[in-house]
Amino acid sequence: MKIVLATHNRDKCREMASILSDFPIDILTLDDFPEIGEIIEDGSSLEENALIKARTVFKETKLPSWADDTGLGVDALNGEPGIYSARYAGKSCSYSDNVTKLMKNMLSVPEKDRTARFKTAIAFVGENMELVSGGTVEGLIATEPKGVGGFGYDPVFYVPEKGKTYSEMSMKEKNQLSHRGKAIQNMIILLQSRLPHIFHQMEDLA
Ligand code: IMP
Repeated sequence: MKIVLATHNRDKCREMASILSDFPIDILTLDDFPEIGEIIEDGSSLEENALIKARTVFKETKLPSWADDTGLGVDALNGEPGIYSARYAGKSCSYSDNVTKLMKNMLSVPEKDRTARFKTAIAFVGENMELVSGGTVEGLIATEPKGVGGFGYDPVFYVPEKGKTYSEMSMKEKNQLSHRGKAIQNMIILLQSRLPHIFHQMEDLA
């Protein structure tokens, strides 16, 4: 079975492909469909944006489509950057521009107030099927970037129960506890009842 991941982001694809490798699916991405231009994500929530992407890609490709949308919500910044996490430091900014802006805005915030959470919404759209799942992880914004793995805000997202940032974890370790890992696991549970021949019982993540 072919599934299209509605993204060009190689980092996200790598994480998702690693988890979904347990199942008999061929993963395609938007790189395989250059005729699908930029999809305008103008929803007001992560769920809406994920659905907009998955519906558009299903309509264009007629293949089951899987989209995710992630936001980092920082309490001391009233939930920012939230749905604007990708372009926090401006249009076409880099991951490191975003981290630099976040560090600057958090400069005077004491440790006890540095609480934040990553949330991912996943939408799966196929023939007569629209499913949405979610995953959340609570953490703290570190005072400086640490670690070399992962992508995006990973170097500054500290997970207290592990005593390290996402960037200090291996991909397997991150996938086992991350917002995206949880949302994927929840989507697989939904898909197990709809497409049991493809999404058989999963023993372990990653
Ligand atoms: P997207 O909407 O899923 O593309 O995510 C928006 C932005 O959030 C990305 O551009 C990254 O900066 C950030 N992001 C998404 N997932 C992660 C993650 O797993 N770790 C760190 N940052 C992430």
